[in-house]
Amino acid sequence: MSARILVVDDLEANRRLLEAKLGAEYYEVLTAQRGEEAVQLAKRERPDLILLDVMMPGGIDGYEACRRLKAQPETRHIPVIILTTLDDRDSKVRGLKAGAEEFLTKPIDDVQLMARAKSLISLKVVTDELRAREASGKRMGVIDDEQRNDALDAHRVFSGTVLVIDDNANQINRLKAALGVEHRVSVLGQDENAAPPDLAIVAVTAKGFDGFRVIARMRSGEPTRHLPILAVVEPDDKARALRALELGAHDIIVRPIDEEEVVARARTLMRRKRHMDLLRQRLDQSLELAITDQLTGLYNRRFLDAQLAPLMQRAQCGGDPVSLMVLDIDYFKKCNDTYGHDVGDAVLREFAARLASNTRPSDFACRLGGEEFVIIMPRTNGDIACLAAERLRRGICASPFTVPGAPMPLDITASIGVSCSSGAEDTPDTLLKRADEGLYEAKRSGRNRVVGKAAARAA
Ligand code: GH3
Ligand code: MG
Ligand code: MG
Repeated sequence: MSARILVVDDLEANRRLLEAKLGAEYYEVLTAQRGEEAVQLAKRERPDLILLDVMMPGGIDGYEACRRLKAQPETRHIPVIILTTLDDRDSKVRGLKAGAEEFLTKPIDDVQLMARAKSLISLKVVTDELRAREASGKRMGVIDDEQRNDALDAHRVFSGTVLVIDDNANQINRLKAALGVEHRVSVLGQDENAAPPDLAIVAVTAKGFDGFRVIARMRSGEPTRHLPILAVVEPDDKARALRALELGAHDIIVRPIDEEEVVARARTLMRRKRHMDLLRQRLDQSLELAITDQLTGLYNRRFLDAQLAPLMQRAQCGGDPVSLMVLDIDYFKKCNDTYGHDVGDAVLREFAARLASNTRPSDFACRLGGEEFVIIMPRTNGDIACLAAERLRRGICASPFTVPGAPMPLDITASIGVSCSSGAEDTPDTLLKRADEGLYEAKRSGRNRVVGKAAARAA
């Protein structure tokens, strides 16, 4: 997977070295010499990953640059790896607290760098995909912009449930003490009624079970597929750390677990999870909104077009026939003129409710606009469709509509045209057109009736 990486270092030799290494792995590399420049460049170029040196004399240092990147809405979703020669725990914790996803010490271990880069970039690809779909939802006007990025705000702490999978009692207690302040900590096998986790900590150091297998299972199983995983490894066991990342762990921590470090890593993982959950949830909402008619809750025109095309295609290739009803309320304008637009709207809602309750679960009831509706009936021939339309017509005129705002129950009727797929030349358009002709005939011959329209036979 190719990606763009921004390398920030004050020393040219260091930039060159990283550029060569990353270039050899087919990454595209951008470079910056100073922290301020990096923050600007990242905003403009939106790289997929940022490698950030800590010591950059003559300006802001790497920690501050990281804080600014994580504070800026345009860049806060971009993962950051801090690189430094300072190998003490305080600088590491400082980097993680500034919002960095990872902290690596120079000289950089190539294999480790590439593994971390790859896992952070693949996570970002998922986020980008969700963000892109969200952006299109926004263009259609079904998503508002507010709070979109809040979940990634580096200053916010989200508390959640951490599931610990480990068999070392001391280590479990350490994790409980460190994480219990901000989160609920449950231990696999000990807490039966724990809430679904927001983060899993898996000890691949465990003696009693295979931690790798646990990670692999979690990655492929549906409820845990998106769960962030922090793997616990031995300090010098690079091979196993890489294996854990390959299998889908999002982050690594070495033993003995540093309490502040695990707290900082948990915060970052939790924040990212919240952000992804939010994007997914909004995506579901926007998809729902995109195919729903707002007044009646039925499907809309967009959905009708999307459903009808493949059903027609299958029918043409010798599959089951598909039938259509086009319905139009009779003298609806009079209802509006007499009782007002709000009563008209209420009639449309009641009409839609009757359509929904008088059609089979396999049928799709759509509102085309105005007081025109369409029902798609997959796997239905013309005779059955006419019977269904007749049943529906009676369901509408049999009992008057009681709607809020109207002084009395209203007698409402509808005219219905029916068509059924026929022959290789038939298209969604011609199918709709025939049903429309049926509807027109029903109106002309007195309304409150059903007219089925067969396709004209080729001579
Ligand atoms: P016909 O029996 O020939 O169908 O007569 P009609 O009055 O039902 O048909 P016409 O097409 O002349 O009028 C439809 C009316 O529907 C006109 C318009 O004001 C009203 N209408 C369209 N959309 C809405 C809506 O969303 N809400 C309400 N309340 N009225 C609507
Ligand atoms: Mg009408
Ligand atoms: Mg009309």
